[in-house]
Amino acid sequence: MSEEEILCSFCGRSKSQTKLLIAGLDAHICDICISQADMILKDDESSKDPSDFGVELKPPKEIKKFLDLHVIGQEDAKKTLSVAVYNHYKRINQKHLEEEIEIQKSNLILIGPTGTGKTLLAQTISKFLNVPIAIVDATVLTEAGYVGEDVESILSKLLQAADFDVDKAQNGIVFIDEIDKIARKSDNPSITRDVSGEGVQQALLKLLEGTIVNVPPKGGRKHPDQKFIEIDTSNILFIAGGAFDGIENIIRTRLNLQSIGFKPANEKVINENEENVLRYINPHDVRSYGLIPEIIGRLPVMCHLDPLTKDALRDIMTIPKNALIKQYTRLFEMDDINFSITPGAIEYIVDKAYEFKLGARGLRTLCEAILNDAMFNLPNSGENELKITKLYADEKLQKIDLSYLKAVS
Ligand code: ADP
Repeated sequence: MSEEEILCSFCGRSKSQTKLLIAGLDAHICDICISQADMILKDDESSKDPSDFGVELKPPKEIKKFLDLHVIGQEDAKKTLSVAVYNHYKRINQKHLEEEIEIQKSNLILIGPTGTGKTLLAQTISKFLNVPIAIVDATVLTEAGYVGEDVESILSKLLQAADFDVDKAQNGIVFIDEIDKIARKSDNPSITRDVSGEGVQQALLKLLEGTIVNVPPKGGRKHPDQKFIEIDTSNILFIAGGAFDGIENIIRTRLNLQSIGFKPANEKVINENEENVLRYINPHDVRSYGLIPEIIGRLPVMCHLDPLTKDALRDIMTIPKNALIKQYTRLFEMDDINFSITPGAIEYIVDKAYEFKLGARGLRTLCEAILNDAMFNLPNSGENELKITKLYADEKLQKIDLSYLKAVS
């Protein structure tokens, strides 16, 4: 048979009409038919029974155990999150059974200082459940029609994280960071448009509650010619996070009013010196801070994160599955270098991170600064031992202005 006579066995196109013609035992298939067959397969997958979402339901204790492997401290947050996640996926299961009682979504809001593990908690949950996660920053969101990203872009990110598998995306997690930054700036709703604040909160409402959204798959702004993908957000777990700087004053004021009898004093009265007042946070405080009640209502599970103590910082360096010291040991091992660090050096790094308020992110920055010379010089140098002592660490850090690190970390 001459080359010209080879035809696609499915559509009959000749070789010259196609880009590619693949030969089988007794037949040929062209690139166009391959694409069509691929689409049919994908269509078939998306019409699968929605209960095949593949998230295995594990009890809260097991979820918490997994969180313990990655996140140090934050006991209250880990417990509350484990229960919320468990209930969320129980709710999805029950929806498939179409029972009479409809269980409300258990979206969460995590409140705590920056660098205390909010994003890490959300990421760890997604790893545990093996569901996609999109991490978005609320500050880049604007109402449709303004410069910035529409709220739908959140779902484009989730879709990308799910490799464009709609089913997976619809059962995924969205972490909205810096939710406090879209709080209304004053208690007085202004008649002028509030592009970055309340307007965005309004736009988020439907998403949080559950709705069907047309999502531009590639993200960016909606464009009339673009093809959209429909995403139902009702099974997506939304976790919002924020530092809510200054909310402690609102909490103190509320608690003090209670203590002098303006409000029922059935809650614990706090002592003047109490540092961690965040643990008493309630939805009222978040409302006073500037989140609209409707948003708060759609993030019904609220938990606080504690500031990291020195002990926590030390544990973060050494204990979690992917702890910094374990990572550096592995990195040096790849160059046949035996890496070790003395307890004194660890203590020294922790002290510096604490003193300069660099938080957990700062631990990494400090380690990089201390180890950079070694990581540059040792590979292929014939040297196969590196021991970091307090003296060594101190020498390297002398060269850096740590107060500058605070500004960038
Ligand atoms: P944020 O609260 O600002 O979202 P992140 O979760 O992004 O903070 O934390 C920043 C980094 O600090 C994480 O990647 C992690 O390495 C480390 N970290 C912060 N808090 C903890 C914690 N409680 N346990 C373990 N690591 C932590």
